[in-house]
Amino acid sequence: MVEFPNGEREDYRTEVAALTMSFRVFLNLRSHGLLSLHFYPFMNSNIQSPDILQTQLPVMEQFYTVQGEGAFTGTPAYFIRTAGCDVGCVWCDVKESWHTSGYPVIPVEELAENARQSGARVAVVTGGEPTMYNLDALTEALQQKGLRTHIETSGAHPLTGNWHWICFSPKKFRKPLPEIYARASELKVIVFNKSDFKWAEEHAAEINPDCRLFLQPEWSKAEQMTPLIVEYIKEHPRWSVSLQTHKYMNIP
Ligand code: SF4
Repeated sequence: MVEFPNGEREDYRTEVAALTMSFRVFLNLRSHGLLSLHFYPFMNSNIQSPDILQTQLPVMEQFYTVQGEGAFTGTPAYFIRTAGCDVGCVWCDVKESWHTSGYPVIPVEELAENARQSGARVAVVTGGEPTMYNLDALTEALQQKGLRTHIETSGAHPLTGNWHWICFSPKKFRKPLPEIYARASELKVIVFNKSDFKWAEEHAAEINPDCRLFLQPEWSKAEQMTPLIVEYIKEHPRWSVSLQTHKYMNIP
């Protein structure tokens, strides 16, 4: 049973049963005049078992763009945004990713091939909260295609998959699991108000020594918080500033 921030509960076993029964039928009249049927499975509601979804995942969107945030800012990357998130940040800018309704379930092989064909060297798996799913098969498929595998996670669920880079962005709305602190490559704390500096240091105190530290203004508060972040990192130089540069560039 999965409980969402709004209190809604979903039994994933019911959803899996629904998935097997839910097909969208596409009629295709071929040039030779015969009618053929193509069946595509679609998610028709919310969440699925992390154990079941290894070779296919609910995906909200996939696109080739430039990484706008954190240590790899400015790097071309193929983004795979899984659908489904149970963290519930009040300032979330992708709330449409919280549920899986209406989003296709896509084989990981297809996702990896799309990433390869884009020409990207880096695949970024984001969400939603991607760690709600078992990502072993996805990272294996991506790496077999020659891509680096990066993930962006709040650390709220056990981390599966094989990663070249782990961006850990803790959220106040759901406590991270302890295991993520030893594995994170990058700690990215979103600064929404002044108290978040102290909160950022609490996470930094637990993080592994090789992890890079970033403070990033929440987009709607960027005007107020960016000057405070600049002053803070000048006084605490182990931190760096991260900006959502993709929003300044008006790209996805
Ligand atoms: S973890 Fe990410 S996707 Fe989920 S609510 Fe927070 S900001 Fe939105």
